[in-house]
Amino acid sequence: MADIVLYKHNHGEYKLVMVYPNREEFALSSLGYMWLYKIAAETEGISAERISTDSINVNSAQIDALAFSLSFDFDYLGVLEILDKLKIPFYSNERGEDFPLVFAGGPVITTNPVPYQKFFDFMMLGDGDENFSKVLKVLSLKLPKKETLQKLSEIEGVYIPNFSVKRASANLSEVIYTPIISDKSYFKNTFILEIARGCMNRCAFCTASYTNLPFRENEYKKIIETIDLGLKYTNKIALLGAQVSAHPRFEEIMNYIKEKMDNGVKIELGISSLRTDAVNPKFIQILVQGGQKHSTIAIEAASERLRKFINKNLKEEQILSAVQIARENGLKGLKIYSMLGIPTETKEDIDEFLRLAKKIKDENKGLNIEFSFSTFVPKPQTPLQWSKREDTKTLEKKQKYLEKELSKIGVQSKFSSPKWDYWQTVLSRGDETISELMIYVYRAGGKLGAYKSALKDLKLDISKMVDGYDFDETLPWDVIEYNPQKQLLLNEYKRLEKYSILG
Ligand code: SF4
Repeated sequence: MADIVLYKHNHGEYKLVMVYPNREEFALSSLGYMWLYKIAAETEGISAERISTDSINVNSAQIDALAFSLSFDFDYLGVLEILDKLKIPFYSNERGEDFPLVFAGGPVITTNPVPYQKFFDFMMLGDGDENFSKVLKVLSLKLPKKETLQKLSEIEGVYIPNFSVKRASANLSEVIYTPIISDKSYFKNTFILEIARGCMNRCAFCTASYTNLPFRENEYKKIIETIDLGLKYTNKIALLGAQVSAHPRFEEIMNYIKEKMDNGVKIELGISSLRTDAVNPKFIQILVQGGQKHSTIAIEAASERLRKFINKNLKEEQILSAVQIARENGLKGLKIYSMLGIPTETKEDIDEFLRLAKKIKDENKGLNIEFSFSTFVPKPQTPLQWSKREDTKTLEKKQKYLEKELSKIGVQSKFSSPKWDYWQTVLSRGDETISELMIYVYRAGGKLGAYKSALKDLKLDISKMVDGYDFDETLPWDVIEYNPQKQLLLNEYKRLEKYSILG
């Protein structure tokens, strides 16, 4: 099926290449990236093109600027691969006027731009919806690089390395949606729309909440209009947001969709995340009516004490009730997502998983339950930004123990790789020296072994990135003015500390 394109393509003089440094199927399902591409494509004076690591079809000589969007920490490999293929030097100070301007944005950059500052001429922090047009306006003037950067520095959220800048926060004046509906997308032929941004829960590890403050929701009327727009072209609709159910009129949105279904409109509905304490029979019935068979709830930690420590105030009764509702209302399977290695975690906390899993299994015969674990990766701009990362061997032991014990009670489990999560910690809490590590690893093929060799050969000191930072020291990402400010994050950490074993 040919792609359905929901925007008008302009062809201006300024050639902007928008890069998703990963595969095209992920590019097509990335709402933020695709929306900014739509803005660029519709801007007068700009000729916008999209490329991904598996679709590089441009000639660097004709490019005026390259804009990267980074969603995941390991996307840097795609950035370097594309620069390499286009024969563009990695470091901005090696690129004269003959080379395009190279800039970036996205969640990874917003969380900590410092490891990337040698690569990019400038970066966009925070929401791009409103500021991207201002950036495009400056770019299309085609001024020399220095003057361009001077002008760009006046735009909110634009970070020119080594100048402090505030991240931008948009008003959500319009509902954003994927402007291309494609069967090449990871979410095939799906129309994705955003109904809310951020999350007011403020779990102490969560960048989706802390880097998207304040929580904002789209207007109900505009959401409904956008759903109707999507339904003109496809029956697959996905509602996106860190916590869609936190939208104050979420129930009405769901009712609107249900009414359409009841009137014979075929809708396959997807929802990015449903808060465990917001699971109710009606929502599950609508999801099941819309073709969903499996869903995920995030409990983050098995013990109530540890959940309180990370500000995930979820009671065991709420978890049990959510699972029961899922089963009774037609879901076939449920994934229960959690983390290992949260600071202050004890053997008792780990054993709580087994007790909880057994209880869930015994009470919900017939429902396919899977426990899925990642390991805790401390992230900048959250109250846990100073915390130590648990060592890999301990995490591997915990995983082995859980895998064995969970299988004894007939519960399936899945685990992320502690070794890769370790490097994710280094990348996300890194400083400027990490750019050297990135280049080394890229050149060495990007495998795990390459990281170890890079450390040895480059003699980098990553101890702080792994073991944590002191409360009174300057953090690499303090070059940006984040919100809530550092002191407020520290106050929140101190407040939560009373739930640590020692507190
Ligand atoms: S509920 Fe989910 S999205 Fe909200 S702060 Fe917690 S982890 Fe983040």
